[in-house]
Amino acid sequence: MSQLTRKAFLRQGLLTAGAATFGGVVPSLANAADDPLDGERLHRDVRDLCAFGPRRTGTDAEHGASAWVAERLRAAGIPVSLVPYPFRRWRLDGWAVELAAGSAGREVAPFPQSVATHPIWGTRPAAGEADLVYVGLGTKQELDRHDLRGKAVLVDGKVLLNVFATYSADGYVYWNAAQRGAVAMFATSDAPGNLVRMIGMGRNELDANPIPAFTVGRQDFAKLRSAARAGGARIRYRLDAAFLDGVTHDVVATLPGAKTDRDGLVACAHVDSMFTGALDDATGIAGLIGLAHHFARLPARRRPKPMTFLAVNGHDTGFPHLGVRHWADANPAQVARLGGFCTLDHLAGIAAEDLPDGRLWRHSGDEERLLLISDNALLYGMVAQVATRHRLFPAIPAPEPLAEANPDLEGLMVRRGVPAVNMTMAYPWYHTPEDTPDKIPPAQLGRCVRAYADLLDAMQRMPVGLIRRAERTPRPVSRD
Ligand SMILES: [Zn+2]
Repeated sequence: MSQLTRKAFLRQGLLTAGAATFGGVVPSLANAADDPLDGERLHRDVRDLCAFGPRRTGTDAEHGASAWVAERLRAAGIPVSLVPYPFRRWRLDGWAVELAAGSAGREVAPFPQSVATHPIWGTRPAAGEADLVYVGLGTKQELDRHDLRGKAVLVDGKVLLNVFATYSADGYVYWNAAQRGAVAMFATSDAPGNLVRMIGMGRNELDANPIPAFTVGRQDFAKLRSAARAGGARIRYRLDAAFLDGVTHDVVATLPGAKTDRDGLVACAHVDSMFTGALDDATGIAGLIGLAHHFARLPARRRPKPMTFLAVNGHDTGFPHLGVRHWADANPAQVARLGGFCTLDHLAGIAAEDLPDGRLWRHSGDEERLLLISDNALLYGMVAQVATRHRLFPAIPAPEPLAEANPDLEGLMVRRGVPAVNMTMAYPWYHTPEDTPDKIPPAQLGRCVRAYADLLDAMQRMPVGLIRRAERTPRPVSRD
């Protein structure tokens, strides 16, 4: 740790220790129904947003949901703009996948057999039938072992922390299989039961994506794996989808600073979702609305800096091209002076271990949280304090941009020199049709949003020059 950082760290320790004693903790109001950070009230917004159905970017449901978010923010009494912009939209029209033939002489099941699948977002529409080849985890050595020309590859994997599929991060298996002549890819959903999980891939080249790809329910995946290993299995697939020009929105609500109109703070969540999207990210949008109402009510002396409450689209259904990118590109001067950026994404959910034998073991703690965060000692000090205060643990810090988890959200801001954090988590139903409001505990949601309120409160008191100088993040290397 450099001399400057050590000094800054000590200073921050004193600041935050003082804050804990003298009112850094958000007061709870006597009447919970009036408190914008109350868990039950936040949960109502989760349910209302989920009532729009899947909020896929550029659809009527997303447009309606974005307008609803704008109204909810406006109700805080602050100026709000709903900013439209064009993007390349992937419209999913339908799909079907069947095991067309098992291994000859071994099975008595009638064919074809339908398979629980979901297309991987943005992959190429096509129809065909092909031999099925099991490539394990799809490492280079495993791919090298097979002639993939004209074949459909079957890829095993794990979804780490319920979010990061081993085969999806940079699309390694997809792009390498296609390069070797494969015509389609099928990957395990690794979700409870036979649930399908819809995912996006870090390398999404839109119209240039070469082949169709699907995730498969875990139980059906096991059947396909046995058939492929036995030899002679064939799979039939059809993906109807199209790329077209679409329109989506940023929702921008700005609470003026009491002392300055520069050096602002941003809290951000995404409106769009794959399915119902309760955890992902109705919890974040509810938190964003709660924070806007909370800070708008605070006395001016508690919010010297301007605050932007930003709802974006295309994080799940458009990854990695949208998210905060449109807003950041349109506001470079504001970004250059930001004192902090918080992503609110997957805030609370019931905790369950998805056991290998197919059972779910529910427990009363939180899921592990991942702190996607700038390599910034001052910011980490503030985050560690609020995470501890509000029992957001266990919490694992993963520095951006090394983690490369959200190159379109806090990752993008870190690469532009902004101290940024995302205190995220996920449960086993992440990105499945079972990510629904009944799995969001209101008390846990309230606890997490209060942690963000305390963090933003601490950021309000932190000199911008000081925290920006503490950024240790390396220069951007890709994707921006
Ligand atoms: Zn999300």
